[in-house]
Amino acid sequence: MKPAPFKYHDPRSVKDLVGLLASLENKKLLAGGQSLGPMLNFRYVMPDHLIDLNRIPELAYVCAGADTLEIGAMTRQRALERSEEVRSACPVMVEALHSVGHIATRNRGTIGGSLSHLDPAAELPGVCALHDATLTVSGPRGTRQVAMADWGMSFMTPDLSADEVLTGISLKTWREPHGHAFVELARRQGDFAMAGVGCLVALDANGKARRVAIALIGVTSTPVRLSTAEKSLTGTDLADDAIRAAAAEIDELEALEDAHASAAYRKRIAGVLLGRAIKRAVARARTPEHRQ
Ligand code: FAD
Repeated sequence: MKPAPFKYHDPRSVKDLVGLLASLENKKLLAGGQSLGPMLNFRYVMPDHLIDLNRIPELAYVCAGADTLEIGAMTRQRALERSEEVRSACPVMVEALHSVGHIATRNRGTIGGSLSHLDPAAELPGVCALHDATLTVSGPRGTRQVAMADWGMSFMTPDLSADEVLTGISLKTWREPHGHAFVELARRQGDFAMAGVGCLVALDANGKARRVAIALIGVTSTPVRLSTAEKSLTGTDLADDAIRAAAAEIDELEALEDAHASAAYRKRIAGVLLGRAIKRAVARARTPEHRQ
């Protein structure tokens, strides 16, 4: 199939883009096209206007601050995967990106597209949840910030109105030495995950958990932080019994059900992956460059 007819626009600045967002009806924004392309071809979406973001240079950047990592919405997933700033400020993002599609899709796909498309199993929204990201959205009514915890309103529905564009993402980075891990289960390399777990762990001088962050993808309609589990694991030595007790929070979640996995199976996988992620993050936290 081919897309239904549309008028093509390629603004060169956010200012011009906002002008188009204000004046055009029934429009869609084009980023890397790795999700929107098929949706247009299947006529799943039939916009009258396609606004191309690919020629707006101010939307693509990576900038590491003292305790934040600032990323432009049009930054390619592959550029993030290969970025030294990302590797040192947010290594879990690099590990997660290895599981996003394929190199070919990552060459075009963007972080803004991934967050705006908001597939429940998308890895980058999970990483943004892990790092308490703040998202900047612009439109004819001005600019606003949205906390990642509030971004996903429901299944594939971000807090983004039709005349707004996601322009930037600010991740809170962990200044203290910490271990990280992003593990998932997908049918094949490059498939969307049936479940995935991202985890950050900082240890104190006695090897106990000083700070823990855990985010799940693919289990509920939007990425979810296991805040109860994080609290229960803090102060412990992160042994198997503490992890098993913490995993109980997963059983309370309203899990997705589809042709790939039942809700019960998804939750079971997530519990197993939680243990693997915590163990991998602890092992990394114990390596010399991370010791207190
Ligand atoms: P587009 O496809 O251009 O747009 C996606 C949606 O977001 C559209 O509705 C568009 O209007 C909107 N949008 C885009 N940018 C903005 C913005 N800045 N502001 C507001 N709205 C915006 N993703 C994963 O996370 N994990 C995977 O394992 C995975 N596997 C894949 C395998 C294949 C074979 C393919 C083709 C894709 C896969 N993807 C996967 C999806 C891929 O990561 C896409 O890049 C991503 O979902 C969308 O990013 P994009 O830049 O291509 O956005």
